[in-house]
Amino acid sequence: MFQQAPPTLGNQYEDDSLLRSYLERNVPADTLREIEPALAEMGRLAGGDLYQMQLADRLNEPVLTQWDAWGNRVDRIELTALWRAAEKIAAEHGVVAAAYEQKHGRFSRVHQCALAYLFTPSTDIYSCPLAMTDGAARTLLGSGNQSLIERAVPHLTSRDPQEFWTAGQWMTELTGGSDVATSETIAKPDLTQNSEGETRNWRLYGRKWFTSAVSSQIALTLARPEGNPPGGRGLALFYLELRDEHGRLRNFTIDRLKDKLGTRKVPTAELTLDGTPAQLVLGTTDGVRNITPVLNLTRLWNGISAVSLMRRVVALALDYAHKRSAFGALLSEKPLHLDTLAGLQAETEGAFHLAFMVAELTGRAETKEIDEEQSALLRLLTPLMKLTTGKQAVAVVSEALEAFGGAGYVEDTGLPQLLRDAQVLPIWEGTTNVLALDALRALGTDDRALKALNAEVSRCLGSVHDQRFAEPRRVVQMALAHAESWLAAAREAGTPKLEAGARRFALTLGRAMELALICRHAQWLLENGGDVRAISAARRFAASGIDLITLTDSLPGAVQH
Ligand SMILES: Cc1cc2nc3c(=O)[nH]c(=O)nc-3n(C[C@H](O)[C@H](O)[C@H](O)COP(=O)(O)OP(=O)(O)OC[C@H]3O[C@@H](n4cnc5c(N)ncnc54)[C@H](O)[C@@H]3O)c2cc1C
Repeated sequence: MFQQAPPTLGNQYEDDSLLRSYLERNVPADTLREIEPALAEMGRLAGGDLYQMQLADRLNEPVLTQWDAWGNRVDRIELTALWRAAEKIAAEHGVVAAAYEQKHGRFSRVHQCALAYLFTPSTDIYSCPLAMTDGAARTLLGSGNQSLIERAVPHLTSRDPQEFWTAGQWMTELTGGSDVATSETIAKPDLTQNSEGETRNWRLYGRKWFTSAVSSQIALTLARPEGNPPGGRGLALFYLELRDEHGRLRNFTIDRLKDKLGTRKVPTAELTLDGTPAQLVLGTTDGVRNITPVLNLTRLWNGISAVSLMRRVVALALDYAHKRSAFGALLSEKPLHLDTLAGLQAETEGAFHLAFMVAELTGRAETKEIDEEQSALLRLLTPLMKLTTGKQAVAVVSEALEAFGGAGYVEDTGLPQLLRDAQVLPIWEGTTNVLALDALRALGTDDRALKALNAEVSRCLGSVHDQRFAEPRRVVQMALAHAESWLAAAREAGTPKLEAGARRFALTLGRAMELALICRHAQWLLENGGDVRAISAARRFAASGIDLITLTDSLPGAVQH
């Protein structure tokens, strides 16, 4: 009787020619030699033990116990076995720490992102707490608050699982996740704890509506010190530790865990803060501005997670194509099936290059090896990358499920969950629209960031000589020229026109940048004996919709409903 072999994964580093060739092109050879064993080990885990653990843990979810048998409020969260293992592996392999140990200078961030990219898809989004942990470490280090730095950063960046802490980011309230300036949480000075006059401690009162990974040890949050004005400026950034020395929550309750479409291993909670002790991170105002370093890093992690999920479904679909027959031949021999998979691969490559470009620039910023043009580029590419890759992840994972036929729709293959998990990527850490508007802000008044993007694209295209890149080159140039002319006309037409077209404008910039990066890498591969299929990827990507600015965007008049 016929028995279908399931798709399997090999070493996820060794099998990933894109990651390996990217590192070879971008990272100095001696650095690559130093980091490669750790990447190969993570690749082994991600395609081996951790992947098997993930499949075995599929039906388990975190459990919130609010009361003990004797009527005490306990609000305990039991994580699943996969997440407990993931936390230990993340610490031991330095998935946060690698960026802070700075063993490889500005390449430390690329190293860390490569680890995260390999690790994430086998952990059911354990990247969520790690992203916030990374963001908290960076924010505290930049705050100059020495006592908080000494207290928390060694834990957040530890490789010892016993010492390792994760952090939450409690921003979203019922009033808004995008518009956090409307937050209602109030901070009152804690006079009883401070007899010396200076108010160091505060107590927070309010409701936090989405708090992921509430199993963490610390959180950064926003609250309005009593008497402060409304709006984002009136909010302050606070640090808090969730539990006291007896393991009890410090004056807040976990009201319930969200019942979500995906990311079901992530304990995302609704909280009521009722006098929760907290400390100011820096200053009693400007909390929204001061929490920006968290957002920049969680957006980078979001992009890396998006690429990692794309890579995972493509790896599984490719393997399956070599195991599944239809109409007398393997799927891997069917031209139309191969064409479908090649389209998914091209999208994955574009997203990969853009996400890792942001990683590279972030690494430069962290080691202060960044010039003005690169800073402007990083500011613009962060929202563009997050919004572009988030959309690509949902489309790629959705299409890839079809490559398994009915099996892609069946839960115990582990495949449908990838689509549900991918669907969060365009929503959290800034929705597509909110980031498109942020990209407009990033352009500034002098369009320095757009000039920086154009300059980077020109450098990419300038390095491309093979004639087969002529069409992709033309597509990039036309798309950017159209984006610029649209921007000028929309500015002229006024804010409603500009905002209405912002998403298509941002996606056009994001996809054009991706195509230029694919071309640069493909040219390098050609010159270095690499995979010539990268040229096909560039040509295919060029034909898959780069310029998304439509005729309606150029029409005069009001926004249509
Ligand atoms: C699984 C999950 C986990 C989360 N974890 C956390 C967490 O740990 N910490 C945390 O703080 N938050 C968390 N969030 C919340 C998340 O960040 C917010 O849901 C998100 O930022 C959107 O905010 P909102 O839900 O209030 O939607 P809204 O802001 O109400 O947005 C609704 C729609 O309006 C659009 N929109 C909003 N403003 C504009 C505008 N100016 N122009 C055009 N369109 C606009 C948005 O794009 C969106 O489509 C989590 C969310 C999810 C789903």
